[in-house]
Amino acid sequence: MADTSPVPNEAGAPVIAVRGVRKHYGAIHAVDGVDLDIRRGELYGLIGHNGAGKSTLFKMMLGLIPPSAGEIRIDGARVGGGDFRAVRRKIGYLPENVVLYDNLTGLETLHFFARLKGVPSAHNGEVLERVGLGHAARRRVREYSKGMRQRLGFAQALLGRPQLLFLDEPTTGLDPEAIRGFYAILRQLKSEGVTTVITSHILAEIQERVDRLAIMAAGQVQATGTVQALREQMDLPLWFSVRVAPADFEAVRDALCHLPVGAVEARDDHVAVQCQRESKMAVIEALAGLGGTVLDLTVHEPSLEDVFFGFSD
Ligand code: ATP
Repeated sequence: MADTSPVPNEAGAPVIAVRGVRKHYGAIHAVDGVDLDIRRGELYGLIGHNGAGKSTLFKMMLGLIPPSAGEIRIDGARVGGGDFRAVRRKIGYLPENVVLYDNLTGLETLHFFARLKGVPSAHNGEVLERVGLGHAARRRVREYSKGMRQRLGFAQALLGRPQLLFLDEPTTGLDPEAIRGFYAILRQLKSEGVTTVITSHILAEIQERVDRLAIMAAGQVQATGTVQALREQMDLPLWFSVRVAPADFEAVRDALCHLPVGAVEARDDHVAVQCQRESKMAVIEALAGLGGTVLDLTVHEPSLEDVFFGFSD
C-alpha cells in the first residue's frame, strides 16, 4: 500500500518533492518521469518550450489533476492525500489565464476570491496596494488594462498570506517597471520564507532573478541548477570585449597568441575574444599585462537563452 503518512519537513528537506511523476493523455506524454526538489524560501524557475509540460506539472503539484504515476509531496503531505487539504490552504496560485469577472471591481474581485479560498477579506485593500492597484480598487475590471488584470490575478494568489506560490507566466502583459515591481514583491516574500515556483518564457527576465531553475523539454527535466551551474555544465564559451585604440588591436592578438582562445575579431572600437571558461583567468592576466593599452574590458557570460537552447534542442 502507498505510504500516505506525512514526512516531517526537517531543516534542509525539500518543501516540494516530486518523484517519478508522469501524466499521460493517451499517447501524449505531457509529463514523462519528473524528479524535482525545491527548498523552502527558494525562488524556483521552470522553463521550457510551448508544450514542454510546465503547466501540467504545476496542476499536479496543486492537486488539480492526478498524476498517472509517481508522487508529489508538499510540506511532507502527499498531494491528493487526506492531509494535503491543510497544506493547500498555504498555497497561492496564479494560473496562465486567470478568469476575472468584468462587472466586479478590483476590491470585489478579491472579496470573491477570498470567500472561495475561505480566508478573511480584512487585508484585501492592502494586497491591492501591494500589487500597485490601490488607485483602481473601486474601478470595474472591464476597464482594467491587460497589465492591471495580470496584477489583479497576482493579488488573488497572495490572498491568505500563502507560504508557497505557484505562478504560471505571471509577467505576461506587464511593462518593464511593473516587472521590476513584481520581482521586488517576490524578493520581499522570499525574505519572509515564502517559496515561489514560477514559469516564464522571458528568459532574460528570470536569469538574474531565480535562485535555481529546471529546464523542461518533452515532458522531462533536462537539467536543474543555478544559472551559473547550468552554464558551467553546458561548457559554453564566453566572450570578452577588449576596448583598445585601433593601433593596439595587434598587441591584443599577440598577448593572447599563446593561449587556447577561440575567435579573436577586431570590431569598431574593441577586440572580441572568445574562450572556454577554463582559460578565462589566463586571458584576464594576459590582458592585464598590456597595462594602460586596454581601455576597458567587458566579460559576456552565455545567457540563459544560450544555455536553454543547449539543453532543450
Ligand atoms: P506552454 O508554454 O505552451 O504553456 P507547457 O509547457 O505549459 O506549454 P502543457 O500545457 O503542460 O505545456 O502541455 C504539455 C503537453 O500536454 C502538450 O502536448 C499538450 O498538448 C498536452 N496536454 C496538456 N493538457 C492536456 C489535456 N487535458 N489533454 C490532452 N493533452 C494535454
